[in-house]
Amino acid sequence: MEHERLWLEFVNTDDIRRGERVDSMRDFAALVRWLEIHAVLDAERAAGMRRRAEQQPAGASAALADARRIRAALRTLAERGAHESRVRGEVLAELNRVLGRSAGTRRVEARDDETFVRAFVPGGDAFAGLVIPIVESAADALVLGELARVRRCADPNCTHVFLDSTKNGRRRWCDMRTCGNRAKAARHRTKVRG
Ligand SMILES: [Zn+2]
Repeated sequence: MEHERLWLEFVNTDDIRRGERVDSMRDFAALVRWLEIHAVLDAERAAGMRRRAEQQPAGASAALADARRIRAALRTLAERGAHESRVRGEVLAELNRVLGRSAGTRRVEARDDETFVRAFVPGGDAFAGLVIPIVESAADALVLGELARVRRCADPNCTHVFLDSTKNGRRRWCDMRTCGNRAKAARHRTKVRG
């Protein structure tokens, strides 16, 4: 698979296969697994999140609902953000709502031997902080001016979004081996039929 941006890969977890909507974020465990696969959480923190979800199932469901809501906003940004300033404004408010969450506090602490150490104390709601790296990735896309290169796959049956990093900026398919290949085969069939 070609390297994609974290936020775009996250948008693509809400998928359509053979005309059916397939959400790979079907539960909180799937969200944690996805974050682990994408190196947002290391194994230890992922295990901590799973334990916490067992103790606080309502909090975990709320975190999943929040992640899906953010995903919907990011899809809007990916599909329409480059062309509609109103959409950009609305999604920006959503991004800042997430970035404003306190994930923790940096401190300097005095130790017993009179030396000092920097410390990071996780604070606020640990569940709420899970999506921050995804939102930061979308914020980076805005800062770097990448939005104009973000596209939805040209296959009408495919909902994937991607960053077009080709030189001429004319990439049309999310993946040449799947959607691109199908389009090529369809063109060929049309030609053969005359
Ligand atoms: Zn596609």
